[in-house]
Amino acid sequence: MSDKKIHLKIITPEKIVFEGDADSVSAMGLSGSFGILPGHIPFMSALQVDTAKVSIDGKEITYSVMGGAFQFKDNEAIILTEAAECGSDIDTARAKLAKERAEAQLSNAQTQRDIKIANAAIARAMARLKAASKN
Ligand code: ATP
Repeated sequence: MSDKKIHLKIITPEKIVFEGDADSVSAMGLSGSFGILPGHIPFMSALQVDTAKVSIDGKEITYSVMGGAFQFKDNEAIILTEAAECGSDIDTARAKLAKERAEAQLSNAQTQRDIKIANAAIARAMARLKAASKN
């Protein structure tokens, strides 16, 4: 089992962001980070708005992942998420603007809902900036 690869798909409602064979996959679950190697027992986790790392032939690629779910079984892994971008495809200027806009919204927030929306936008922008900085 250990010489096998993980067949990974990163899927959003819009498209398949990545599909291919990886040596390992790690991501941020709700109770912390986890890493999966080929041959791992079946595993499932909800995902935080953060990043996922995919290791392929010694090269590590970081994706931003906007929450969702991770599932692993029989060396098949799926990340199902609202949006995901490869770090090298991320428009960092856009993410910085989104963060500034959300911080302004947070400081003007009137309701708990406003606070929640602004914090979620900040988390998305921070995940994108983190992924962009790793590639
Ligand atoms: P913005 O305010 O800049 O639109 P957002 O957090 O509201 O950011 P989302 O709703 O999460 O954006 O994503 C909308 C679409 O835009 C998705 O397809 C996502 O992949 C893409 N996207 C968002 N921000 C970026 C970025 N900084 N670089 C590249 N693609 C991005």
